[in-house]
Amino acid sequence: MKPHSLHDMYVEELKDLWSAENQIVKALPRMVKAASNGELKKALEQHLRVTERQVERLDRIFKELDASPRGKKCVGMEGVIEEGKELIKEKPEAPVLDAGLIAAAQHVEHYEMAGYGTVRTWASALGYDDQASLLEETLNEEKEADRILSDIAERSVNAGAEEGVGGNGRR
Ligand code: FE
Ligand code: ZN
Ligand code: FE
Repeated sequence: MKPHSLHDMYVEELKDLWSAENQIVKALPRMVKAASNGELKKALEQHLRVTERQVERLDRIFKELDASPRGKKCVGMEGVIEEGKELIKEKPEAPVLDAGLIAAAQHVEHYEMAGYGTVRTWASALGYDDQASLLEETLNEEKEADRILSDIAERSVNAGAEEGVGGNGRR
């Protein structure tokens, strides 16, 4: 549907995010299963719970707007998730796979941050202050997830991945 106003663009971007979030809810369990590092597994599991609440938050906003969240597929997120799937299919050794899973998850978080930053700002511009604060809550959760992933990578996973499996980390 061709958008004719900022309000239309806002609803379209919210639909895109709703599609993205629902794709993430499906993808995260696969990533949890593929991860070996305990902290990473836990972080991904926790973000799955958080993501489910983010979908509910979007549902509330659509209700307020009296609009349906359906009818759009976020092909950007589909591509980002596909790259993570390809990595898992390549079956790298555990520490290397963990490093790759963190990279894949951080791509997801950054894509979301771009979308939520936009809709939060548009909601304010349109005078939907309650929606703006709901969207900002989600934006902050995505930033926090990204920070936790960086922390796990820097403190444990990257070192393990660099050691590699055959003793030669530079393969
Ligand atoms: Fe999210
Ligand atoms: Zn998208
Ligand atoms: Fe997220």
